[in-house]
Formats: sequence, C-alpha cells, structure tokens
Amino acid sequence: MQTVRTRIAPSPTGDPHVGTAYIALFNRCFAQQHKGQFVLRIEDTDQARSTAKSEQDILRSLRWLGLDWDEGPDVGGEHGPYRQSQRSDIYRQHINTLLEGGHAFRCFCTAERLQSLRAEQMANKQTAGYDGHCLGLSEDEIAAKLKNKEPHVVRMRVPEEGECHFRDMLRGEINISWQQVDMQVLMKSDNLPTYHFANVVDDHLMQISHVIRGEEWINSTPKHLLLYQYFGWEPPVFSHMPLLRNPDKSKLSKRKNPTSINYYHAMGYLPEALVNYLGMMGWTMPDGREKFSLDEMVSAFDIERVSLGGPVFDIEKLNWLNGKYIRENLDDEAFIEAYARWAFDPKRVARAVPLIRERVERFSDVMPLAGFMLDGVVPLEADAFEHKKLDAAQIREILQLLLWRLENMEEWDRDRVEQQCQQISSFLELKIRDTLFPVFVAISGKAVSTSVIDSIAILGLDITRARLRHALEVLGGVSKKETKRLEKQYRALQDFMAGEDAR
Ligand code: GLU
Repeated sequence: MQTVRTRIAPSPTGDPHVGTAYIALFNRCFAQQHKGQFVLRIEDTDQARSTAKSEQDILRSLRWLGLDWDEGPDVGGEHGPYRQSQRSDIYRQHINTLLEGGHAFRCFCTAERLQSLRAEQMANKQTAGYDGHCLGLSEDEIAAKLKNKEPHVVRMRVPEEGECHFRDMLRGEINISWQQVDMQVLMKSDNLPTYHFANVVDDHLMQISHVIRGEEWINSTPKHLLLYQYFGWEPPVFSHMPLLRNPDKSKLSKRKNPTSINYYHAMGYLPEALVNYLGMMGWTMPDGREKFSLDEMVSAFDIERVSLGGPVFDIEKLNWLNGKYIRENLDDEAFIEAYARWAFDPKRVARAVPLIRERVERFSDVMPLAGFMLDGVVPLEADAFEHKKLDAAQIREILQLLLWRLENMEEWDRDRVEQQCQQISSFLELKIRDTLFPVFVAISGKAVSTSVIDSIAILGLDITRARLRHALEVLGGVSKKETKRLEKQYRALQDFMAGEDAR
C-alpha cells in the first residue's frame, strides 16, 4: 500500500496564522493515523514578501503547539531542500519539460498590454484572464525576442472547452469549467516559479499522497491537476478543509479576531488547549467530547467526518476551554511551573527591560513600572480617560484612527509607530501630548508611563490591537453610525497624508 505523506506549505510572509496551525493539525492527524509522514515545506517564492523572521516564527509556533513534522527545512529529510528558494534548478528543469512538450509557452506581453486587456474585459463584463496573444508567436519570432533579451514569463496552456472533474475527499465530485481557468503564469520574468508551479512540482517530488488544504484553493486545483497531467504524474488525493470564520461568519480576519499564534502565546493560552480548540473546528470526536488531546484526536481521527459548515473561531469558547485545561490538567505544582515558564520566559521579560532598566533600584520596582508590558489586556475604567480638552467621542476617534493606521503598517518599528501618531495629531489639529493621552491610558492603564510609542513598538500589533479595542469598549463602544463617520475620517486622513507626502 502507498505510504501516506501529507504536508503543510506555509508562505513566510507575516505572523504565524492560526489557520496554518489548523491545517497543519489535520494533516498531521491524517498522516499519523495512517502511520505516514508529515512534511513541512516553506513556500517562499514571493521574495519581496517572504522573510526569515516569519519563517522562524512559523516553525517556532507550530512546535510550541506540538505539531511536529517528520521532514522540513530545520530537520532535513530525503526529499529536501524543503525551502522553495533553494530549489530553483529543479523548477528550471521542469519548466523546460513543459515548454518542450508544448504544454507551456513564453509570453512577452508587457504590463501595459495586460492592464488594458484587463480594463477592456472589465468594461465588457468578461471574466478577466490572459487572451492567448503570445500563443500565436512563431518559433522565429520567439528566438528573436529571446536573443533581444526581452523580458517574458512562461504560462501554461489551458483547454478552451469542457470541464475539469475531480474528486475531493470531503466534498465529492467537483466540476469546474476550463473557461474559468486562466493561462496561469508558471515562471515569472525573474525566473522564479509561481506558487502553482512550485507547489505541484514539489508535492510530486516530495511524494505527497494527500493534499489537505483550505477551501480557498479549490479553484486552483484544475490548474494543478492539469500540470500533473502534462508531466504524466499521478496526482495526490485532494481535500479542501472549510475555512475558519469570525463569529459573524465572515472569513477569519485579524480585524475581528486575533489570528497570530504569537498573540495566543503572549496572552498565556496553553498550547494543548489551543490545539484542542483547533481540532474542534469542523470536527467532533465520535463520542461528542469537547476536551481531547492531540493523541486522542489522532486515534479517533476520520477525515470523512470533517463537517463543511464554516467553523467559527470563537475566542469566548477558547477561553472557556483553556480555563478548563488550567483547572483540570494542572495541579498546583504544574500550575506554578507552567505559569513561571510563561511569565518569566526571557523573551517576554526582555520586552520590558529596555524601558525600565534605568529606573529600577530594586527588583520589586519592576512590576509597578513595567507590569503593563507583561500583561495581556490591562484593566481599565472609563474615568481614566477623562481629559480637560478631549471629549469621549474625540478619544474614540483617536484610538480608532490609530488602530486602523497601525493595522495597515507594512513594517512594524518604533519610527513608523511614532509617525502614525504624529500624523493623526496634525490631521486632528491637536497637540501630540493630547493625542497620545488616551493612547497612554489604553496601552498602560495609567495616564503616565514609560514612552507609549516604545511600548507599542515592543508589544507588537496583536497586543496593541487588543488593548485599543478593549479601551474602545470601555469607552462605550463604537456604534455602526460612528464607525461610518470614523471610516470617512480615516479616508480623509489618508488623503491628508497623501497631501503631506506630495509636499
Ligand atoms: N503556500 C500556500 C499557502 O500559503 C500553500 C497552499 C497549499 O497548501 O497548496 O497557503
């Protein structure tokens, strides 16, 4: 019988996402249940967005959750390298195979041509997609363009008619018309592969037997199957898991729910509880039990019992489960040990040290000075926000505008945080001190503390967001009507910024 091999293939382009852990969990259960292997592959073909830090964070958080892998960039294995940026030669060879077989073609269309094509298709209400312009180039024309070193990409051919049929282990028969499938770029002009191409080549070479991934990839599966067919390879079995959702059923998003595993670590959740909770997403134990360990889940696992209704990631429920773990699984000794490991994790404590070391005379000064740096959400009262110049609506405005600006920051560092605060203050025509006042309170719980800008930079977006949101709630919450008004203000702020930049 074929060995079961599954994989998780994260792209290291941001914070480690709970969705990655959720998919990793199901892949790991399935592989382990069939005495197979679970592989971790880093899909870093997007060089502009991939970072080593994000990769390290992903590996560290999956490990923290106990979702270990049998092969991967850090542990090695027979099918490496496990980082796509180190597999360029492999992709180059494989693209040549497709070009030689006539399954792929070089496309020299310029960005301008593609743009006007898209605009035309939009205006005619057609599905956007490549029109096959370069399919008509003769051998000689291609040779001449190559000689001229004209930049080009390689695209895959796609049937013009008919449908792609495939079986999904969870969803049964799926049919997608080829007309909806674009002539996907496989190799970009910088000679780097796109996700679709590298993913298929690697799944095959790494002998992945079952691809278990999120449902957002269903529409890409025809392209992938076509590539397997072009290469003459046996495709893996596909299963598309339901996406995690916010309580309002929209796709899980950090605006509505913390999505970074770092956040759950920083807030002091137990990894076993978080994994258990992720296991409850779309799946139930045969006896309906809600609390179960990873080993218990593996023993009882049956992928066919995954239910497709969008599983809601509900923090309240997770809190309940985490509390249950703390009460039921930890006796006093284990509690002390687990708490100390979390609270005195040198990385955590390191957050506060630069802010306070000049001011500490005795260690007992640390908590009063820096306790807020080590907390999750700080306790707040509405009175703490009372200010002689700012009313509650203005305070909510400052906090909400800052939250939105911070959420859209591409890189997180002190100077950028400071810039956001400065900009909001000039936009609102307030003194920076006054603008920062409610921010101080929201972040530290007090009107005076160590530099709030430094604190935000060190605490990171997840904790900062949780505190700003908590403050907004304490201040009576932002109604729908107010949100509309603030969104308008936010757009005005963006325009104001654009004006400042142009100056
Ligand atoms: N790199 C893709 C991602 O970030 C992997 C998708 C797949 O599993 O095929 O989700």
